[in-house]
Amino acid sequence: MKYSNVKGTHDILKDEQRGYDYIETVFETIAANFCFDKIETPMMEYTDVFARGVGEGSDVVRKEMYTFLDKAGRSVTLRPEYTAGIVRMVISNKMYGNLNSPLKFSYFGPLFRYERPQLGRYREFHQFGVECIGNINYTNDAEVISMASIMLEALGLKKVTVKINTLGGMETRANYKKALVDYFSAHIDKMCDDCNERLKLNPLRILDCKDPNDQEIIAGAPKITDYLTKEDKKAFKETKALLKLLDVKYKVDTSLVRGLDYYSNTIFEFHFVSRKGVDYGAIGGGGHYSNLVKDLGGPELEGVGFSFGIERLYSLLVDNNILKEDKLGVNLYFMPLSQNEVSIALSLANYFRACGYRSEVALNKFKLAANLKEAERRNTDFAIIVAEEELHHESVVVKEMINQQQTIVEIKDLLTFFDKIYQVDRNEDNCHCHEEGHECHCHDDDNDDIN
Ligand code: AMP
Repeated sequence: MKYSNVKGTHDILKDEQRGYDYIETVFETIAANFCFDKIETPMMEYTDVFARGVGEGSDVVRKEMYTFLDKAGRSVTLRPEYTAGIVRMVISNKMYGNLNSPLKFSYFGPLFRYERPQLGRYREFHQFGVECIGNINYTNDAEVISMASIMLEALGLKKVTVKINTLGGMETRANYKKALVDYFSAHIDKMCDDCNERLKLNPLRILDCKDPNDQEIIAGAPKITDYLTKEDKKAFKETKALLKLLDVKYKVDTSLVRGLDYYSNTIFEFHFVSRKGVDYGAIGGGGHYSNLVKDLGGPELEGVGFSFGIERLYSLLVDNNILKEDKLGVNLYFMPLSQNEVSIALSLANYFRACGYRSEVALNKFKLAANLKEAERRNTDFAIIVAEEELHHESVVVKEMINQQQTIVEIKDLLTFFDKIYQVDRNEDNCHCHEEGHECHCHDDDNDDIN
């Protein structure tokens, strides 16, 4: 029997994992500077959290959730998005006792949606995102959008289009929905099956249809801007003015609706098209939600959040040479020439690892030529040949792989030798080699033999 990974999932291998770690570190550092605390919620919730939170009319709830009954017959769903789970977390933990300033969270983790797998679309994928929940208003929306733009810029993405739109409050949406139903009802027999269903469940989602045939009809649909209440119009105008002051270059796109039902007022998406014209679609998006906390049984608090798709971000960074695939090489490759030198090679490697060098030991075979070949393949800086002859003089042979130059170095001088080459400054502050039980010799004037 041949086993394969589940359709729509993917193994995240070395370079890709390092890329994800890098993206996460960049985002988390910025989020922390904006005073967002990292949290994690369970990977599964009771189904109602998403059905109620994300909305029965959304594609996610209707078609894409991984839902099953647990052994006690409770309906459980693998999280298809973070926001509803985070709001559930806020309510479960009664985190709204003191809301002089909003709750601010960041997250990074896997999500599950039963979608048709295609380029940039998986059934298990990863998101980084933030939520800001409390007595908030449009100024928080602008701050969060500006933070997202700063994050993308920090990754080196300069040409990102920030699309924004407003869905208004309840009154606006009710009037607009009615106008859409009136308009689309006259055309629906010419539109795709999905749009026919959307007309009954969530007419706003018709605006998001990608069917080229439907696009022409959609182009003639009423625009939300004509249905905004005075209050919603003012809030959107003020949001845009603040975004301008924060130097966010946005484009208003009145067809933007987003796929999750809980959004109201300002919504936004980040789009990237490469210089060669490859359209990566939405690399992230988010918006304001006025009723979600209340809908899930909490107090009248509002929120705003966004998420970035890590798979899409990673591939566009690599494709566009922004994130060079980082083939992490080996600094020091220790090569014992027989079983007798294995233990000293292992302790030397442990010592240098503790000093911050990526070190490897050739443990399985003692053939020098084969090991040097492997060192080359592993992109090694230095091969260190640990042989009986030199050990008699408490020395090893150091071979610089790039120029094949060989030097005999006394073991007591080895750290200084490499530190000089790698320009490591081992003052009290940055030396960690005495941690975890390693004896430290970095500060000795005359480095004793480490054995
Ligand atoms: P959403 O949670 O639908 O607002 O999506 C936010 C971002 O997550 C999108 O802009 C995509 O970058 C990413 N994303 C959503 N669905 C998928 C998927 N099935 N596979 C990969 N990335 C996705």
